[in-house]
Amino acid sequence: MLRVAVIDLDHCQPTKCGTPCIAFCPPVRNKIEAIKMGENGFPVINEELCIGCGICIAKCPFEAISIVNLPSELGEDLIHQYGVNSFRLYRLPFVEPGTVTGLLGRNGIGKSTALSILAGSLKPNLGRLEDGQGWEEVAKRFRGTLIQDYFRRMAEGRFQVAYKPQNITLIPRAVKGKVGEILTRIAGSRPIHEVVDQLELRHLLDRDVSALSGGELQRLAIAAAILRGGDCFIFDEPSSFLDVRQRVRAASAIRGLVESGEARVFVADHDLSFLDYVSDTIFIFYGESGVYGVVSGPYSLSEGVNTYLEGYAPLDNVRFRNYEIAFSVHTPSTQDAGGGPSIYWLRMTKTYESFRLVVEEGYAKMGEVIGIVGPNGIGKSTFIKLLAGQEKDDEGNRIEYRSLSYKPQHPEPRDQLVIDALKEAAGRALDTELYRSEILKPLGLDRLLDRNLAELSGGELQRFAVAEALSREAEIYLLDEPSAFLDVEERYVVARLLKRLARERGAYIFLVEHDLMLIDFAATRLMVFSGRPGIEGYANPPMNLRDGFNRFLSELGITFRRDKKSNRPRVNKPGSRLDKAQKEMGEYYYVEAA
Ligand code: ADP
Ligand code: SF4
Ligand code: SF4
Repeated sequence: MLRVAVIDLDHCQPTKCGTPCIAFCPPVRNKIEAIKMGENGFPVINEELCIGCGICIAKCPFEAISIVNLPSELGEDLIHQYGVNSFRLYRLPFVEPGTVTGLLGRNGIGKSTALSILAGSLKPNLGRLEDGQGWEEVAKRFRGTLIQDYFRRMAEGRFQVAYKPQNITLIPRAVKGKVGEILTRIAGSRPIHEVVDQLELRHLLDRDVSALSGGELQRLAIAAAILRGGDCFIFDEPSSFLDVRQRVRAASAIRGLVESGEARVFVADHDLSFLDYVSDTIFIFYGESGVYGVVSGPYSLSEGVNTYLEGYAPLDNVRFRNYEIAFSVHTPSTQDAGGGPSIYWLRMTKTYESFRLVVEEGYAKMGEVIGIVGPNGIGKSTFIKLLAGQEKDDEGNRIEYRSLSYKPQHPEPRDQLVIDALKEAAGRALDTELYRSEILKPLGLDRLLDRNLAELSGGELQRFAVAEALSREAEIYLLDEPSAFLDVEERYVVARLLKRLARERGAYIFLVEHDLMLIDFAATRLMVFSGRPGIEGYANPPMNLRDGFNRFLSELGITFRRDKKSNRPRVNKPGSRLDKAQKEMGEYYYVEAA
């Protein structure tokens, strides 16, 4: 048995707790130093002397300790360990030339760690913390595998890797200048036009990088990686901030890289439709977030995604999740889940200086989840603000409701503890086991309760904002892109909660989303926005999912089928037999299993 102990230094507060982890440790009481205070002022667990009794875990008031037992064979597969009692990554994904490999796994499970290693920006220490490894030694460790050649060429400086990092908001700090100049600089003598058009950057060429929105920065970063060229391309979460059309275009551009059969491409993402569309093979990461991650694969594309949804990795014979993420084919009865009184809105217009939104008259039934889809900059958030009563329409009318809970697209941090903010939203429910098991734990907020909102990372703040919005008792819930930064499991939890809250609280829920799998899972009807982004938007009234998806997908020119095994919606490869047949029939969103 391999014992892995991790102390989360972001949570450990030895000056506040009185170090009960050390005081109550049974071996320590017998003069065996299984845990002691380290030189850095934090406790250190000796994994060989620790008996795994778990007493320190129970005594720690800040949930800073995790101890897991792993099969000893895994020890040989240790690739990287950040430090003593730190996160460990076991095994690496690999990729053959001419292939796009998708990486699927929870937040904090080691995907970025693996990608940084493959990019050559993090040298794996194989668990040996004292002596640094050279690339030569690392290559030797992988003797006889495809990775050996990869690292050997990297060691010899014969391997070029283009890397799009996860956090694109840092780009303007590192790179200065206009979009066109930056891309030309990176591309050297290669022409930039094709990539610029694929990623819809032409109108931004003269714009300074510091003035770009999240979606624009993301497209710039993807274009930059493509233009940099090389033997291997790595894209860490490329779908964030992009709308569906941009995701499809980005996926096509990424797929274009392997057409010559030479390049290798890795993509990590939480949008399953996107990953399904872009990848040829899948590697799954499982383990415990922040503690350890194991890489499993390769799986064929459909097997990989289905395996992930099932929560069981057949290659390792490991169940890594105690529930399955299941999709059902929508039937008219499930689509018409709403009952009771409806809310109506009249035709509205909202005009800003250079943008105009027209909203058609519509209604939502009690218990419904209305999915809202459409490109970025088409007025979805404006509609949500009109519904929320935050904005008046052109006639000066403001919609008033008895109670409303709103998660904005970009939640603003404020000076308040997470626990106090959630108490305000949830009231006494916060102390119940149900709240803990349904909201706090699945969204990973149980470990953030004592933090100040102002200190949270972007992803943590998003998870908090979703929890806060769902915690309030309200008649209407408006959620603007709740999936941002959430992993597949968290998205599923949110989707399930939305459906249940709508039914149980007799609420009306509006969900703006670009993750079509989440929309397919949670929505009862669909509101499709069309028009010209940034100029004029048109909000259709809610329609049933089939009509809504048909309208939306036909504008994008993509078709969906249902996976036979899992029922999940899958994007057809453009020009495939099914794609052509469905387009001919006008059935972009296939409801029958195909
Ligand atoms: P993912 O990309 O799957 O979300 P990461 O590879 O970013 O996962 O992180 C895996 C774990 O490694 C996390 O617990 C993270 O806090 C930890 N980690 C990442 N970088 C470092 C670092 N430089 N030092 C210590 N721990 C790190
Ligand atoms: Fe000590 Fe038990 Fe904690 Fe190990 S698990 S450090 S033996 S208290
Ligand atoms: Fe205190 Fe927990 Fe840190 Fe131990 S691990 S010093 S109990 S906060």
